[in-house]
Amino acid sequence: MASTTLKINGRDVSLPTGIFINGEFRKAIGGKTFATENPSTGEEIVKIQEGQAEDVDEAVRVARKVFRSKEWAAFPAADRAKALNKLADLMEEHFEDLLALEMIDTGKTRTQAANLDLPGSIGTIRYFAGWCDKIYGQSNFGVPGVFGYTKREAVGVCGQIIPWNFPLLMFSWKIAPAFTCGNTVVIKSAETTPLTALYMCELINKAGFPAGSVNLVSGYGKTVGAAIAHHMDVDKVAFTGSTVTGRAILKASAASNLKKVTLELGGKSPNIVFADADLDQAVEWSVWGIHMNYGQTCHAGTRIYVHEDIYDKFLEGYTKALKAIRVGDNFGGKTDQGPHNSKVQYDKIMGYIEQGKKEGATLHLGGDSDGGKGYFINPTIFTDVKPDMKIMKEEIFGPVVAISKFKDEEEVIELANDTTYGLAAGIFTRDYERAIRVTSALKAGTTWVNLFNFVHWSMPFGGYKESGIGRECGDAALENYTEIKTVYMNMGARAPPVGPS
Ligand code: ADP
Repeated sequence: MASTTLKINGRDVSLPTGIFINGEFRKAIGGKTFATENPSTGEEIVKIQEGQAEDVDEAVRVARKVFRSKEWAAFPAADRAKALNKLADLMEEHFEDLLALEMIDTGKTRTQAANLDLPGSIGTIRYFAGWCDKIYGQSNFGVPGVFGYTKREAVGVCGQIIPWNFPLLMFSWKIAPAFTCGNTVVIKSAETTPLTALYMCELINKAGFPAGSVNLVSGYGKTVGAAIAHHMDVDKVAFTGSTVTGRAILKASAASNLKKVTLELGGKSPNIVFADADLDQAVEWSVWGIHMNYGQTCHAGTRIYVHEDIYDKFLEGYTKALKAIRVGDNFGGKTDQGPHNSKVQYDKIMGYIEQGKKEGATLHLGGDSDGGKGYFINPTIFTDVKPDMKIMKEEIFGPVVAISKFKDEEEVIELANDTTYGLAAGIFTRDYERAIRVTSALKAGTTWVNLFNFVHWSMPFGGYKESGIGRECGDAALENYTEIKTVYMNMGARAPPVGPS
């Protein structure tokens, strides 16, 4: 299938638009296409092939065939590493194309995408490349009469479903560890941000991945996503997205073949600023806590608790910093914050802002948008937010924070943990004993001391409570993509006696 050429901010970018199966871009079996739009203008960027359940069936059939093949079994682990490293090289070589695609599809600024999304994606792929030939089990000589060992085997066909907030990064988080461990992949991008995944498939071909080892079906959640989650021949699903969809995926697993499921879901992360904190540092990182990807981040620091002694000073500094953020077209050189990803997300965030006002919280800053064609919302601060208000309880996924006062450590730990989520939490203090005590008390998968929204591919990431199941990144991710096989070998053991005693 032919590629199309997109003109993005004066740059020509060639992009395949098909369903990627067995190393080829194909037309969708049902003959449908769908459009993706530029959230800065609301205008269509391009139409791409729209997969359905039958395309998923075909992709899974191919991924299974490759997984079972002698060639795949004989493909050396070191060659998987070579392919991943080559993919990372190609991403560096085509950095500007990937950047342009990611910016136009998501609304990210160059600053965010070039410093975060792309280096994070390339780093992830290189990191997992290093693991390919280091995946092995344990041996046990301690059992009398037998020798026992374990080996780590690939799980099989992995169905990967990713969201729209970090399309390239999530693509990398999902394909790299799966491929590293010797699995084959069928991945689905999010319907509003399918472009970088398509471009990556072309690079995957060039990098020397065996045809059919990674397959991509673009399309909607209710069709393609549900088909992956319900598929009888998918062995594992890794999902990043909303908690509502995470529940649907678990149910689909239970109703089909009990495929293994890992989930990386929502959050409502607390950010605690103690009276002894370095105030400038706390303000700087707390701004990043909500400004990163404009709050469209599952670990965004949306609940800020500030000790009453420094509350006024913190609020003053924080407000000043958020006020200085320039909102506008993400391709405009002087923009700090671009548009939100879609009309759906825009309406959802504005709905929460209205809800906050209705419930009696004080709108301290923002709450508005420029009213232009794109989906822009100004950084927003609510104060006087009660623990049971919706804006304190639910994930908004936008640039909206609730700032409250606290008196003592015990009280604030209680407030911070008063959530169904448990993805991340941060604290600001100069007291390292307190830092260790409080991070231990916080029920969250990732905790930060004197920084916020910092995630590195070499460290595990995932949630407590309703924020998810399993961990991504770091060596912990490898556990999700391997089955442990135990082998006992007889070294002189006799079978237990048979018959009456
Ligand atoms: P958000 O609400 O942030 O868009 P979703 O959880 O709806 O998050 O979407 C994350 C990913 O899950 C997207 O790729 C989407 O298409 C997919 N998805 C949505 N609904 C389902 C579903 N019922 N089954 C499987 N995947 C789905």
